[in-house]
Amino acid sequence: MEKQPIIAVKNLSVEYAKTPVFRKINFEILAGDFICLVGCNGAGKTTLIKTILGLIEPSAGSVEFLGMSRKEIGYISQETVVTSNFPATVEEIVLSGLLNQKRGIFYTKGDKKKCEEALAKFGIKKLLKKHFAELSGGQRQKIWLARAVVATKKMLILDEPGNNLDSKSKKELYAELLKLNAQGITIMMITHDLDHQNLVGNKILALADGVATMETTEEYVKRIHRHDDSESDGK
Ligand code: ADP
Repeated sequence: MEKQPIIAVKNLSVEYAKTPVFRKINFEILAGDFICLVGCNGAGKTTLIKTILGLIEPSAGSVEFLGMSRKEIGYISQETVVTSNFPATVEEIVLSGLLNQKRGIFYTKGDKKKCEEALAKFGIKKLLKKHFAELSGGQRQKIWLARAVVATKKMLILDEPGNNLDSKSKKELYAELLKLNAQGITIMMITHDLDHQNLVGNKILALADGVATMETTEEYVKRIHRHDDSESDGK
């Protein structure tokens, strides 16, 4: 079955104090996509995801949601992951992922079950009552993922989730993201990991000089190989 667009970015421009970050960019995110958002520092990656999340007002153009709402996106920012002395238990953090969907003010048994299931998904149910500050970087990353998983059934946006993780934790994290994606969650992730060992996802959206270019990961790999071949031919 053809994949359906869930987000359409149309002629989107964002500027800070009249200085444009990007101008009239266009792309679609399809249900089930796993998009790596790449570009140099300052290219506008964080600005783009914050605009999709509705945290930044575009100066022109629009972000349209099709068959889902902005509220259904689970977002993990860089700051959330690195905060070291977050004064809460793992259970409190993961439960707070439900706040968007809740009607009452108390957590129910069902909520707590969802929280335990999300932790179990990442093999860290035993951390339920631990304080966040006691955990390692890799464990913290999984807690935020578990929180995002209770917050959304549709889409996750992550800002450099592999940052500050050693290569083993990073591999585990990407494996978890691939599993979530295989279960139907659409993912958009800012990353600098485009080497073949860490290359994940089906598409790459590159931001450079205010322009956005989307290609499939397959096209990207072919292009890079061609480039490598022609460089070695030239030597
Ligand atoms: P990236 O995430 O790709 O590193 P950003 O989206 O953070 O890029 O930033 C894009 C550009 O916008 C940079 O030149 C940055 O200095 C500028 N910028 C980011 N946030 C602000 C802000 N709040 N006010 C003014 N300029 C900003």
